[in-house]
Amino acid sequence: MVRYLIAFLFIVQGPAAQAVTQAEVMAGSAKLYREQIDELRKGYRLDDDERFGARVAALARPLIAQAKREFPESAAWDWELHTTSDGDANAFAMAGGKMLVSRAYVDALALGDAELAMLLAHEIMHAVLRHNLKEFEEALRLEPARAAQPFAEFEYDIDHDNALMRKLAGFNQQQEMEADREGLQFAVRAGWAPQALVAYFRKLAKHSHYPNFERFDHPSPASRWQAARALAAQMEAAR
Ligand SMILES: [Zn+2]
Repeated sequence: MVRYLIAFLFIVQGPAAQAVTQAEVMAGSAKLYREQIDELRKGYRLDDDERFGARVAALARPLIAQAKREFPESAAWDWELHTTSDGDANAFAMAGGKMLVSRAYVDALALGDAELAMLLAHEIMHAVLRHNLKEFEEALRLEPARAAQPFAEFEYDIDHDNALMRKLAGFNQQQEMEADREGLQFAVRAGWAPQALVAYFRKLAKHSHYPNFERFDHPSPASRWQAARALAAQMEAAR
């Protein structure tokens, strides 16, 4: 009887009780990305500046090729890169290498090629280091009951549930710092000079109205600049 009951419970609970997987996170990201891309296309804001699109693609191509070599899992991904003039977007890479870069953001910071490469390297690191998946795993650790929640709801909450987002803030800050640190080293391996890359963080801090302000899920621009400068100095010394 007990055995049947356990079997019955398993069937009722189904796969939701299992941990979140990279496949699930990638499928979710692909869907969210598609929706955002479609929205931009409808508003004639998708890839709406050919020159800018070509510039971003030329800088991203060798970086993505290097990511595929260094992170073999990502060689099988359907990487996608689009640009937009939409001022509400800045730049991101979702699980599975789904990237968007806004010209408004790049223009506002007046990013040169090395600085734009640093931005791309940071975003690529989020994807190849599986930061989306790790955030779900951390959320499950903090709130184990979410294992029973349908994935789509969990995915929504991770970006909209303020209580959960506050709990994850420290973890997300760590991920941002990791993407900065690993991204800088990754871009150097791709051939960029450390000092040229660091200029991205200088511009970020200079442009920010609140350079010392810690957003609850992002380290302050000033502290990011300082960390990048220190790492670049170390790398220059070791060259
Ligand atoms: Zn980031």
